Amino acid sequence: MAKATKTIRQALHYPPQYAGYFAANQVLFNRVVAFYFDCIQAHEGILTLKNKEALTALEKLTHATAANPHPIMPLSELAPAIPAMFRRAAINAALGSARAFSSSLKKWRTRKEQHEAKQMKKGKKRPWSARPPVPPRSWNKSAPFYAGLWHERHTHSIVLKVWTGSCWSWLKIHTLGRDLPGGFQMGSPQLVRKGDRWWLHTPIEKTFEAPAKVIEQLTAADTRICAVDLNLDHHLAVCSVQTVDGTILATSFIGNGTAVSGCRKQLLGRIARNRSQTGIIAENEQDNADLWAKIRHVDEQIAHLVSSRIVQFAQENGASILVFEHLSTLKPEKGKYSRRSNRKRAYWMKGRIFRYSKYKAWNAGGIITARVNPRNTSRECHSCHGLVARYNQGQPQEGYTPGAALCFCPQCQMRDHADRNASLRVGQRLIERTQEPLKEKPHALVRRAKREPKGSGVGISQDAKRQRRPSTDAARRGDHANGHGTAQRGRRRMGAPLSDIASTLRIHFE
Ligand SMILES: [Zn+2]
Repeated sequence: MAKATKTIRQALHYPPQYAGYFAANQVLFNRVVAFYFDCIQAHEGILTLKNKEALTALEKLTHATAANPHPIMPLSELAPAIPAMFRRAAINAALGSARAFSSSLKKWRTRKEQHEAKQMKKGKKRPWSARPPVPPRSWNKSAPFYAGLWHERHTHSIVLKVWTGSCWSWLKIHTLGRDLPGGFQMGSPQLVRKGDRWWLHTPIEKTFEAPAKVIEQLTAADTRICAVDLNLDHHLAVCSVQTVDGTILATSFIGNGTAVSGCRKQLLGRIARNRSQTGIIAENEQDNADLWAKIRHVDEQIAHLVSSRIVQFAQENGASILVFEHLSTLKPEKGKYSRRSNRKRAYWMKGRIFRYSKYKAWNAGGIITARVNPRNTSRECHSCHGLVARYNQGQPQEGYTPGAALCFCPQCQMRDHADRNASLRVGQRLIERTQEPLKEKPHALVRRAKREPKGSGVGISQDAKRQRRPSTDAARRGDHANGHGTAQRGRRRMGAPLSDIASTLRIHFE
């Protein structure tokens, strides 16, 4: 069985005095955790037990019952009337910390012994200098609410049992944000402080049948693969679904990268201007904090929107594998600060879209994500694998203009959108793995090979077979050199408002 987990974070709406209660509750929780941590340190045998037995043993040591009227280290001296579930949550938290501490201490001891043995062998006496791990000095854990400490969970409210500093009371709190999705099992909610606001985090979990490995899935001719070509501008992602036997089923163009890039570039330009106007500011102080925050949020949000669109598209078309290219290295850009930084951030965003898509795909019921070698995916024809001509609308159909929108294959007369062709090639790369095991080389090797001087004849076998080689300049630019210096640049939309960009990406659920 495979498992998908995620955390639903909900902002809370509560009267101002509640913030103090939540803080008091967390302080008490951490005191109890610290108490149990010390208790475990005093009774080392406890860590050899399993969690459930350790919990019983610790309760026996600290909790008075009719059968056990005088525990050795009574918890009631710390605070009276602590609910059983609160105590258990604290015990589990303390056990976790104690196990982590004990294993790092053990590791440190073995390393020390190894070091001393080595020194003895060499006849030297260099003392072991690494410091031993120390137990936590302060505790700042968020308090979880086990079953019994919360009830009446509705779409927009929950009732929690909270220590207010003077008594235990049930507080009703309004939750904002999205609902818990169906089909998941809910874990214990947790009150988490973020700045001066409190949030409710709820871990949710879903189990499903583990999908077969990629290589096994590829043996079935009807397995559907969703291949994604990520770009820096124009369409942020171009996805196409095809089956293993080569039938192309659907294509989707996602996101207006030009608008995102324009929006980001404008903000970066504003930062550069501000910087040129102000003098030196204090060290360790973030300049233009608001503008930077905005850039971060735009990137984050777009990456989330694009990745969920990718996964949604894959799901709608019944794909069970998602394929990306490995990221090629970032090519440094010349030009103004805003242009250089913008390029860098666009590149980072590609990595982010990949990471987000990967976990979203897995959570969407076990879609596996794979990556393939990016070499020449934009240059090869998806139907005959020959080299294509890439051009813009209205230009002659020859040569290779990096970043141009259209492509044409002189060998088989294939005409297509260049990014769609690239995404189809990405998918085929994965399928080729099963058919010709040696055809695809590891990414690192390829990169090293790329560094060979051009024309030295040392390269990739695939290329050596071809009669026509791409020009040196074009080859350096790699597959994703889409944009700079091409005709589209003039038409770039500067600073489209984020709301426009986001609304075109928004997912609509029926
Ligand atoms: Zn062709």
